[in-house]
Amino acid sequence: MSTPSGRNIGNILVIDLTREKIVKREASPETVKQYLGGRGFNSKALFDMIPGRIDPLSPENVLALASGTLAGTALPMTSRLHISTLSPLSGILGDGNAGGEFSAMLKFAGYEQIIVTGRAEKPKYVFIEDDEVEIRDAEELWGLTTGETVDWLRDEHGDEVSVAGIGPAGENLVRFATTMVDKYHSGARGSGAVWGSKNLKAIAVIGTKGIEPADPERFYKMAKEDIDYFNRNDFVRRIYSVIGTHYGLIQWYPSWKYFQVPLSAEELPIGLRPQDLAEYEVGRTQCFSCPLACKDVYYLPSTGEYGTASEFESIYALGSNNCITDTEEILRMEHMADEYGMDVMTLGDTIALARLLHERGILSDEDVKGVSLEWGDAEGQIQLIEMTAYRKGFGNKLAEGYRNFAKLYGEEALAYCYDVKGVNRGWYEVNFIKGIFTLSHATSTRGADHLRGRSWAYWENDKLMDIEVVRGMLEAGLPDYRKDPVGALIYGERACTLADSLGRCKGSINSWLQAVPLVWKYPVFKGTAMLLTAFTGMEFTEKDVIDATDRIYLTEMAFNVKQGIKKKHYDVKFPPEFAATERAKAQVRRHWELVDEYLERRGCDVETAYPKRETLEGLDIGYVADQIEGKEFPEWDGPVGEVA
Ligand code: SF4
Repeated sequence: MSTPSGRNIGNILVIDLTREKIVKREASPETVKQYLGGRGFNSKALFDMIPGRIDPLSPENVLALASGTLAGTALPMTSRLHISTLSPLSGILGDGNAGGEFSAMLKFAGYEQIIVTGRAEKPKYVFIEDDEVEIRDAEELWGLTTGETVDWLRDEHGDEVSVAGIGPAGENLVRFATTMVDKYHSGARGSGAVWGSKNLKAIAVIGTKGIEPADPERFYKMAKEDIDYFNRNDFVRRIYSVIGTHYGLIQWYPSWKYFQVPLSAEELPIGLRPQDLAEYEVGRTQCFSCPLACKDVYYLPSTGEYGTASEFESIYALGSNNCITDTEEILRMEHMADEYGMDVMTLGDTIALARLLHERGILSDEDVKGVSLEWGDAEGQIQLIEMTAYRKGFGNKLAEGYRNFAKLYGEEALAYCYDVKGVNRGWYEVNFIKGIFTLSHATSTRGADHLRGRSWAYWENDKLMDIEVVRGMLEAGLPDYRKDPVGALIYGERACTLADSLGRCKGSINSWLQAVPLVWKYPVFKGTAMLLTAFTGMEFTEKDVIDATDRIYLTEMAFNVKQGIKKKHYDVKFPPEFAATERAKAQVRRHWELVDEYLERRGCDVETAYPKRETLEGLDIGYVADQIEGKEFPEWDGPVGEVA
């Protein structure tokens, strides 16, 4: 096998904070071929290094950051950093994906992955400048917001430095604290609390080395075709570059009053419409090498602050789901969450759940003494956000995050908790998009998630397809979700795993249905194999690429098996009032039929949901089977360990 050296592939920094020791390693060419990079590298590292059922906030946990094989190259949207850990929110695999410049800068410094272990005695940050890597004191930085942290590090090391790190929420072990990249690009699932538990404030990187493809002519030709596609595709430009995900406010039915009413475009209150948000927009910004610039930059006249990347998710979670419609207040909350370093979806959903539980008498007035849980109280919510970031008063309970928060108040509270494997998702009837949407939340390896299989893209793009896209779908062999929802979901999971492992934004695979020439010109896995071959100099076939995505997904499933995940945790939750109806019972039956078919087609045992030995050996990872086959792991019930 040819080696991938010279293209900054597979170079790993292992940082032991307990011993203050840094080791540089190289992944073997076989590992690059098997796990590609990015998410694939991280998921393998976590499976290999983390045993079952440890406290995610203990020094035994591992924090992995990886750039992806094609990050930093001329291919557009190769900007993503994958951040993985045992999640303090869910107690299973927790990974997040952030944009910005860090991923490319890390590659320019000569590394693809950073693995952090142990715990420093005092606050530290890591500074990387090409071959120089140092662990430095961060006592001056401790307590700073994410924005202040970036400013401090830029003052110290120069404006070109790129920063991944945490704000006060991570330091205070808020279970849904994020890793923030370059101020405003966030990675979810609570990784920020793991940085905090390790006394690690930030990693700052400057890279000056170039990246040269093995076959520049072929690689740059394909990269140019990709850019040309974005430049001439009016639909993509109109949606991403002008409206961004605010488009979802009139398309994706944002929920009102803790998931009680899905709002159609006609029902959307003034303040929550895309044009209301546009009034605060003063510019656009983008991640490294992105021609789309999907992120708005907004100005808040009341505080004089600038923020960026208000998304559909932050508007529904902090706004409509809490019955708040004041545009500027919602943007202010979103900016606060970014500065404290908290995931807006879990933050907003946990506050909305608290309001509902109080309304139903499950939380007493005594439980919520001193705070306002009135629906629509924006000022009260601003106080709650600050209390959560600093774990003050009732905020200490909210900081536990959604299901862990509900668990504090018993079974009655858990009945209103619509999660999959500890991660909030809202609720949707199973027949929505023929069952595929709910199924994709149930099968996601990081708990409920709309970006693990991009199942909603079928529904959205169904209405928007043009002839070019239909041709692409046929050539790509894409299963028809109406006839084969399970096949369509597995296809989507493979495409998302691929994007996360290459370091490509999943905006580029709105994708395998809509946006990317690699789909319609070259079927997606074949096109990617051609790109990987041109870049790495190693021969990749279409089958190699598909096998790699399956290997990554099954390694993640096996990691979760070690954390106590059983078949029953692929369930679907409805509000108690709806769950009692015949309609809901029929939907639950349909859901389990789909889960069985999914497990069968993924090569898992249908009774236990464990990946089968024969499947793992077929992918040359029999060692994964050795660790789970015939073993019983204590049943999962959220993360181990207590903070609140
Ligand atoms: S589409 Fe948006 S999130 Fe994706 S790379 Fe471009 S600017 Fe970043």
